[in-house]
Amino acid sequence: MNFLWKYVEKLEKENFGGGNTKFKCSYCNLTYNGSYFRVRSHLLKISGNRIRCCPKVTSSHLAEMQKIDAEVEKTKALKTKKVHFLPQRLIRLLVPPLRHILPLK
Ligand SMILES: [Zn+2]
Repeated sequence: MNFLWKYVEKLEKENFGGGNTKFKCSYCNLTYNGSYFRVRSHLLKISGNRIRCCPKVTSSHLAEMQKIDAEVEKTKALKTKKVHFLPQRLIRLLVPPLRHILPLK
């Protein structure tokens, strides 16, 4: 549910340093090192996470992203294990036959 990745371009994964990812912000076009946590801090302008806040994200877009982010966090808190994008009813029809094929989490 890391929706903010679509606002940045994921660059090659570094082979050292504990698996940090490089990403290029689609707004300011600058390259940064870091995990999703940093992407989020950058785009949502959360300071104090050792990454610069994005200078190019407009306040209206910021509000939009914060809204989605709040929803995502809420969903994360509600759901414990099962994360899927298919409607429950469909899942019940497909499972159990496809349970072993689909990578349902
Ligand atoms: Zn940026």
